[in-house]
Amino acid sequence: MMKNRRFDLLPQEVPTHFYNIVADMPNKPLPPLNPGTMEPIGPEALAPLFPEELIKQEVSAEQMIEIPDEVRDTYLKYRPTPLFRAFELEKALDTPAKIYYKYEGVSPSGSHKPNTAIAQAYYNKMEGVKKITTETGAGQWGSALSFACAQFNIDCEVFMVRISHDQKPYRKMLMQTYGADVHASPTNTTEAGRKILAEDPDSPGSLGIAISEAVEKAANDPDTKYALGSVLNHVLLHQTVIGQEAIKQMEKAGEMPDIICAPFGGGSNFAGISFPFLRMNFTQGRKIRCIASEPSSCPKLTKGEFRYDFGDTVGMTPLMPMYTLGHQFVPAPIHAGGLRYHGAGVVVSQLLKDKLIEAEAIDQLECFEAGVLFTQKEGILPAPETCHAIASAIREAKKCKESGESKVILIHLCGHGYFDLKAYDDYLKGSLVKHELSDADVQKALQKIQTPSLV
Ligand SMILES: *Cc1c(COP(=O)(O)O)cnc(C)c1O
Repeated sequence: MMKNRRFDLLPQEVPTHFYNIVADMPNKPLPPLNPGTMEPIGPEALAPLFPEELIKQEVSAEQMIEIPDEVRDTYLKYRPTPLFRAFELEKALDTPAKIYYKYEGVSPSGSHKPNTAIAQAYYNKMEGVKKITTETGAGQWGSALSFACAQFNIDCEVFMVRISHDQKPYRKMLMQTYGADVHASPTNTTEAGRKILAEDPDSPGSLGIAISEAVEKAANDPDTKYALGSVLNHVLLHQTVIGQEAIKQMEKAGEMPDIICAPFGGGSNFAGISFPFLRMNFTQGRKIRCIASEPSSCPKLTKGEFRYDFGDTVGMTPLMPMYTLGHQFVPAPIHAGGLRYHGAGVVVSQLLKDKLIEAEAIDQLECFEAGVLFTQKEGILPAPETCHAIASAIREAKKCKESGESKVILIHLCGHGYFDLKAYDDYLKGSLVKHELSDADVQKALQKIQTPSLV
């Protein structure tokens, strides 16, 4: 008898709508504030940076938003993505738990990020935008957006943090092959970049500086807009195609997850897999536990505060109500670059505050141990970010072994790590160290925020 290890959908089963959890949340998110007046700001403030349709989605409370045909058609290049049962991992852990994983690494750029990049490129194209600017750290988002812009014939300009640009050249090459214009940030092409270079000509750059450069470029050119790969409501919304597919696939497997584990940077892949399941909690009284796994070196969900703070380092964005370590917080240079953001999306923050989701922090050594075991048993080498979710799932599977319970665990395998082999090499050579942020460090970072606490 063949084992039932993979649960596939047909192309026509790719979702037709994005699911907007705001419609079903018991407490709606608080509004963003103008940092000057501390008054709520309206969506019109975003108009210089984003196309109208995305601004509409950003503030929408409509439950279902139809996916345009061209976007759905482009999704067909890799969607529906597969869902597998992890029999070999279960066996290695000697656990009665049943472990499944939804794999977004089959996308052209290797992660979940094209789900929103494609939608964003399309809406920009429809409104006549000629160029999209963005920032990227290690390059996952930059490569997703470069791919999406190539699909819709839009120019793409990427400000890549200099240290990653120099040390991790392969994603840069992928972006350039997709046709993007990639700069090592800081550059001398923007006011923000020139200011940094004047102070430090050898600046390694940071995500905050790269954001400032990309935003400045878009704000100064009527034909150019800016795109963000996580955190914002419309980004989370686009990712919900993942969870909608996963529900159908789990039904084919004849189960529903008791626990969902996803890594957490700004919240987009976590939202993507979990929001459609949380809807079942809200509307059908289910009790699916959704666990966001963050690095112990950047523990905004488990050690940060729920309060108004800036989204960027420089303080140019509106104030957002979110879990944060303070916008000036600089995390240790761990390999999971995609999880080094100081804050969390507004919607996920509200859900955590209301105890409708859970969070845990995991050290990078435990993460890579989990990632290596997963690679050996399931064959796919996960992104360092993704290893956090695997580590959380392994913790839960071990609890099942102790209690004898056969829980169903769903891992979000949101990206592969084939461009991150250096990180595995460092782990295997024993040169990775534990990075735990002390409570004193957290307090120091939080004291720099001047805005009101909400707790
Ligand atoms: C970008 C990225 C993340 C973190 O971002 P989220 O918005 O929290 O999903 C996690 N995993 C992978 C593979 C990524 O590329």
